[in-house]
Amino acid sequence: MKKRKIWVIGFVLMLILSMAAGCGSSGANGSASNDTLDAIKKRGKLVVGVKFDTNLFGYKDPSTGKVDGFDIDIAKALAKKIFGDESKLELKEVTSKTRVQMLKNGDIDAIIATMTITEERKKEVNFTDVYFLAGQSLLVKKGSPIKGVEDLKKDTKVLAVKGSTSVKNIKEKAPDTEVLEFENYAEAFTALKAGQGDALTTDNSILYGMADQDPNFELVGKPFTEEPYGIAIKKGDDKFTKYVNDFLKELKKNGEYDKTKSKWIKEQ
Ligand code: GLU
Repeated sequence: MKKRKIWVIGFVLMLILSMAAGCGSSGANGSASNDTLDAIKKRGKLVVGVKFDTNLFGYKDPSTGKVDGFDIDIAKALAKKIFGDESKLELKEVTSKTRVQMLKNGDIDAIIATMTITEERKKEVNFTDVYFLAGQSLLVKKGSPIKGVEDLKKDTKVLAVKGSTSVKNIKEKAPDTEVLEFENYAEAFTALKAGQGDALTTDNSILYGMADQDPNFELVGKPFTEEPYGIAIKKGDDKFTKYVNDFLKELKKNGEYDKTKSKWIKEQ
């Protein structure tokens, strides 16, 4: 009887130990430790979560398959700092809804994807210093009676993307309007073009990219929020956060940051 008890306890202990060991051993981070930089170096490449459908920041050209944009150039420059080679970089697609969970899972080392620094998000991730400042605005079809957020009343429909700050903000600024939420910006813009809503709301920086792709649409009104973008890193990894902050400072100091910004962003 006693012997059996010891066996059972031993078995349960082994089970707990093997589960604990298995916890940290999946995904890009590959180890149970919180040292992202160490994991990146061991792996030999940096894995960054970026947008694939956001013109000017992270956009995959369907004809070439190439992903380009301001966020992509920042990711390349970070890979260059770590390895002296910007091609030691893997870009993984994230959406506003999936990015935090992908970082938590260890699927990516960092998020560089038009992500606003907020107090709520700070509970789940570390943020670097601000690397871009945007503000929420509206995109409408040219000639639309909607000229600003004050025109979004009871019988209007606004399109936005799940998991973005834009949804929360618009519900506060225009509480009577109906908000339709989409998975990503490509879907939301397609819906606007199809007349499923009166306006699309997100950061002006993203809306400029859409207006650039289709001149039938324009931004209206002044930005009604502040959206400071930060690079998100695994919660608690202060070492890698400092490393990326130092990298951003260098980029600003050596003129690389301004060069990259003016390559992508015309309206400032
Ligand atoms: N910057 C806003 C946010 O972080 C909107 C852009 C986005 O959805 O990524 O939510």
